[in-house]
Amino acid sequence: MRFKRNGSYTLNRKSKPKTNGKKPPAEEKKQYMEPEFTKIRVVDFDLKELVVLPREIDLNEWLASNTTTFFNLINLQYSTISEFCTGDTCQAMTACSTIYYWYDERGKKTKCTAPQYVDFVMSLCQKLVTDEEIFPTKYGKEFPNSFESLVKKICRYLFHVLAHLYWAHFKETVALDLQGHLNTLYAHFIVFVREFNLVDPKEISIMDDLSKVLCTPAPPPAPVPASSASAPSPSSENHVTER
Ligand SMILES: [Zn+2]
Repeated sequence: MRFKRNGSYTLNRKSKPKTNGKKPPAEEKKQYMEPEFTKIRVVDFDLKELVVLPREIDLNEWLASNTTTFFNLINLQYSTISEFCTGDTCQAMTACSTIYYWYDERGKKTKCTAPQYVDFVMSLCQKLVTDEEIFPTKYGKEFPNSFESLVKKICRYLFHVLAHLYWAHFKETVALDLQGHLNTLYAHFIVFVREFNLVDPKEISIMDDLSKVLCTPAPPPAPVPASSASAPSPSSENHVTER
């Protein structure tokens, strides 16, 4: 389901140590938290204005439309670096000190690589958002009772993909000069899921440091001295959480 790109980029990638599926990848340093990157957005207005339910629009219609858009945009953003997210580089679906495991339809926990996990996520989301019984597009067709819980499920999985993009593929995103798009997409998504309480705050708390910086209107431009770049958080490497 993922968009594949044909071109190949010539980036200098250092090989990463084996993770055995237990530890996060080697990029513990949160490059994405450095002010020179967090200040880069595509838009600089308050994203909250974009997510509040407009008057006269049905809540479910609004959730359906936004969820479908986020699915498409996050899928597209991931596709820009998907050739660097392989079974070798990303042996597990990691984000900060968390490893995500996939649970199949029977609830069985499955160990998988990050690209496999993202494929599972995108395939499931594609199936749900195009299911006329769940995301109805025809006039007069009702949303099912399970609609909200399915939207929450989609948003939770999409968050995992965004978190993985920052954690494991920020360098490549910067090399492609797409960090402004990623920052804007991330901030818009977080403001949206918070507005409608679609993802457990505990779930998204692993990225709270970034959310705090990005989910406020961008500060007026000011020169940032190179020496003020933030140091990696020592606490981020100390434990591994399983989800
Ligand atoms: Zn990856």
